[in-house]
Amino acid sequence: MTETLDTTGTPAEIAGSTMRAAVVTEFGAALQISELGVPLPGHGQALVKLETTGVCHTDLHAAQGDWPVKPQPPFIPGHEGYGTVVALGEGVDDLQVGDKVGNAWLWSACGECEYCCTGWETLCESQRNGGYSVNGSFGTYMLVDAAYAARIPDGADPLEVAPILCAGVTVYKGLKESEVSPGQWVAISGIGGLGHLAVQYARSMGMRVVAVDIDESKLALARELGAEIVLNARTADVAAEAHKAIGGVHGVLVTAVHPQAFGQAIGLVRRGATIVFNGLPPGDFPAPIFDIVLKRLTIRGSIVGTRQDLTEALDFYARGLIKPRVTVARLEDVNDIFDRMRRGRIDGRMVIDYRDDS
Ligand SMILES: [Zn+2]
Ligand SMILES: [Zn+2]
Repeated sequence: MTETLDTTGTPAEIAGSTMRAAVVTEFGAALQISELGVPLPGHGQALVKLETTGVCHTDLHAAQGDWPVKPQPPFIPGHEGYGTVVALGEGVDDLQVGDKVGNAWLWSACGECEYCCTGWETLCESQRNGGYSVNGSFGTYMLVDAAYAARIPDGADPLEVAPILCAGVTVYKGLKESEVSPGQWVAISGIGGLGHLAVQYARSMGMRVVAVDIDESKLALARELGAEIVLNARTADVAAEAHKAIGGVHGVLVTAVHPQAFGQAIGLVRRGATIVFNGLPPGDFPAPIFDIVLKRLTIRGSIVGTRQDLTEALDFYARGLIKPRVTVARLEDVNDIFDRMRRGRIDGRMVIDYRDDS
């Protein structure tokens, strides 16, 4: 199909233009590739013509309605979208047509609550989430809130930069939250879309890395990316191995998608450690109170990152320290990507490329 909007589009010219998008019409059903009207940017918003978007596990959870707070179908998932600003709503003075931007899970926040005012905008109770409570990047156009859109550094590769917008910032923030110092050991549990970036961020932050997974090929990737110790949780007693090799780790970042990995993480650590949960499998895990108290363990959740965290995470990428492994797909592949995700059959990150779509 042809898109009539060009890069000098104004809201008046956008009216009547169409876009293609993958739409969740019903939880658990296949997404429908639909032709929709291009949305008009409202006050403080910008319209973005997408070039690429990563596909995050959260998008799958959104489409399945897995979490207690659910999005409202029909909606367009996606919060790792990268593209070009093609039109501005009123009241936008710090973005211009032609700027490269991204959307993120933290699509916007109130800017005024206790959390927003103390550097914890990711906890804002009035936040809006990309591809969840606001339409996201699984389409050829999307809206962003100009105050919250990620500014993409010059020279970014459209395919590689997309996963930084959620997976990258999420693990970067999670590693900061682990309070592991340079030279200390961090275990990265789960070497998928998040974990393979976490190994690289941890190394760039001066941490020493133990990688834990149940798949030998993912452990081989972790070793290639700089993990010094790799442990297969399917074939080895990873807690015993970690203690034998290095006396336990100083912190753990759990990116795994299986609840078992969460309880297991506690066995990997030495005393005083912090265990950070990034992954979001449905369910609970058993927490040994005795160990937590006697070993002064901290168990902490960490959700994406602030705009400042995202700027920093993008800067690590722009300086060549982070190289996301991406597999390129098309919008029509979205249901197949979700299938592969359910079966754990994705190495690195799937990225949808729209650049041949127009
Ligand atoms: Zn995500
Ligand atoms: Zn707020």
